[in-house]
Amino acid sequence: MPEYLFPSPPVSSVAIASSPLRFAVHRIYCVGRNYAEHAKEMGHDPQKEEPFFFSKPADAVFEPSQGALPFPCATQDLHHEVEWVVALGAPLHRATPEQAAAAVWGHGVGLDLTKRDLQTAAKKSGKPWDVSKGFDHSAVLAPLQPLQGPLPTTGRIQLQVNGEARQDADLSDLIWAVPALLAKLSHFYALQPGDLVFTGTPAGVSSLQPGDVVEAQIDGLPSLRLELAHV
Ligand code: MN
Repeated sequence: MPEYLFPSPPVSSVAIASSPLRFAVHRIYCVGRNYAEHAKEMGHDPQKEEPFFFSKPADAVFEPSQGALPFPCATQDLHHEVEWVVALGAPLHRATPEQAAAAVWGHGVGLDLTKRDLQTAAKKSGKPWDVSKGFDHSAVLAPLQPLQGPLPTTGRIQLQVNGEARQDADLSDLIWAVPALLAKLSHFYALQPGDLVFTGTPAGVSSLQPGDVVEAQIDGLPSLRLELAHV
């Protein structure tokens, strides 16, 4: 065993529903603009676009069971993006959609928290998205659930803020279905067990304030309830 100058960082992980085991996170990948109505609300034509990807650090994971989320710094426009998150249980490289579907171990409800003001500025100036997407606590996750049967192709996906509906769509609205999406991603990266993929958000993204309570659900999956700390 090598000896390190500093103690090695803890393994980032996510709870698994009805299990004492935890899902050790290797990497977190995200896809942009994968629902037509959200692409339109962001000012884009959803018709002819290849999926595009960005990532968050593995240790950006935040679980609501840890308590209230410390309100992120350096933004005046923090946005919620509810997303269906798939979790890989097998390696995947230059895969077909069929191979990709077989590598999915489980899934869950996630929030791709976004500093929209910083992202908008980055888009305008052609700069990277990292500070707007990959900040601390930006990958909020409910407990993951092992797949029971094939990957679902339908299911309602919803988000409320302080009890008020903000996002409400169906997984069948995805522009790029998960098998095709993972196959594409696997041509850029050698995907590994422990990878999480955020599959995009439906329309209705909007601002969050300190003290807000965010609730999100996808049919058949453990729901998410997040409190944002008062500053
Ligand atoms: Mn997103």
